[in-house]
Amino acid sequence: MSQADRWDAIVLGAGAAGLMCAMVAGQRGKRVLLVDHGDAPGRKIVISGGGRCNFTNIHTAADRFLCGNPHFAKSALGRYTPADFLALVERHGIAWHEKTLGQLFCDGSARQIVDMLVGECQAGGVTFQLGQAVSAIEHRDGAYHATVGNTVHAAPALVIATGGPSIPKLGATGFAYDLARQFGLSVVQPRPALVPLTLGSEDALFRELSGVSAPVEVRWNKTRFREAALFTHRGLSGPAMLQISSYWQHRTPIAVDFLPDEPRDWLLEAKRQAPRTSAKQALAGKLPQRLGEALLGQLNLQGDLGNQRDAAIREAQAKLADWPFAPDGTEGYAKAEVTAGGISTDGLSSRTMEAKRAPGLYAIGEAVDVTGWLGGYNFQWAWASGVAAGNAL
Ligand SMILES: Cc1cc2nc3c(=O)[nH]c(=O)nc-3n(C[C@H](O)[C@H](O)[C@H](O)COP(=O)(O)OP(=O)(O)OC[C@H]3O[C@@H](n4cnc5c(N)ncnc54)[C@H](O)[C@@H]3O)c2cc1C
Repeated sequence: MSQADRWDAIVLGAGAAGLMCAMVAGQRGKRVLLVDHGDAPGRKIVISGGGRCNFTNIHTAADRFLCGNPHFAKSALGRYTPADFLALVERHGIAWHEKTLGQLFCDGSARQIVDMLVGECQAGGVTFQLGQAVSAIEHRDGAYHATVGNTVHAAPALVIATGGPSIPKLGATGFAYDLARQFGLSVVQPRPALVPLTLGSEDALFRELSGVSAPVEVRWNKTRFREAALFTHRGLSGPAMLQISSYWQHRTPIAVDFLPDEPRDWLLEAKRQAPRTSAKQALAGKLPQRLGEALLGQLNLQGDLGNQRDAAIREAQAKLADWPFAPDGTEGYAKAEVTAGGISTDGLSSRTMEAKRAPGLYAIGEAVDVTGWLGGYNFQWAWASGVAAGNAL
């Protein structure tokens, strides 16, 4: 075992948060070692946003994040904003566009974001140590000692930036939680988030709609999202369902409004206007045909609307606006875009991300119990928390 030079800071995890933190600290003149067990930095960035990286969201605000303390993310998000990251992107000449709902994407490739961050790290003299696992961390003689391969590295500051366990095939692990617990930090029960929901046998009929998508409003308790839903061979996906999955709790129902833009009595009105139309005809053009047929198959509305009692029509309208689904689970970490839960913010400074009871230990990015909505919010948290720690090291 060889003893390497001492560093000012060791950053564990060369993902979005770790790269940002190392870049900021390096450019402040700190000697930074950035360690990852993967062979390349920023592997999730490369595949993000369908290969175009939805790198931020201009509507970033703390209420678009799930966290045990709803105020925790405000400080870091307020001090490093989407405009700050965009300025960096523009300095590097990376072309971008707003897709929808404030989501900013690269015009070209997500790899441009990785190259930008790696280039900025190199400009700050950051040393990369890739492709080697961290086997042990100890704190002694006022420094953190990290065993990486055959070398022990030491620094007064250690940053946990190893993310959460979502998408293990990309090298994701729960290492951050083990390390946090080792140093007395508590961990909020991690769970897959932004993940497709699965449906049980009672909803098997919807699995036959695999590939069909529709704009809906989905609700769980008081949380609601208006985006597209997609039926899959296992259940429900698409942005609306991924969003609600972060809030959903097992053994609870979600409700879907399949016609969120229709006035409340739209079908009753159709009966008044055109009593000889059928419900199927009234739904045509408002919903994909296969979905409309599947839903109508569950409602008792055969024949012309003119022959239906108003009460039956009201009941059908109400059901289409509040369709209950009882997911029996999620597709798990293998398909989850992020992990909710993680290192509890109770033990961290919201200004610097430093552990209150373990001086010199920092936690940033997805490893922390801060989880953004779909749409660039998770990267913005990675950048902002990385900058907060990078400025404090
Ligand atoms: C398919 C997909 C698409 C996504 N698209 C978007 C998007 O468009 N916009 C958005 O905002 N968010 C998106 N996300 C979420 C986003 O990628 C994450 O929130 C973000 O990468 C978290 O950054 P991080 O640095 O905290 O963790 P990560 O980027 O996951 O980085 C953690 C790093 O730590 C390393 N590591 C793990 N364990 C160890 C260990 N034991 N030793 C050493 N190294 C270790 C990993 O190899 C990894 O490089 C997407 C996620 C996925 C899976």
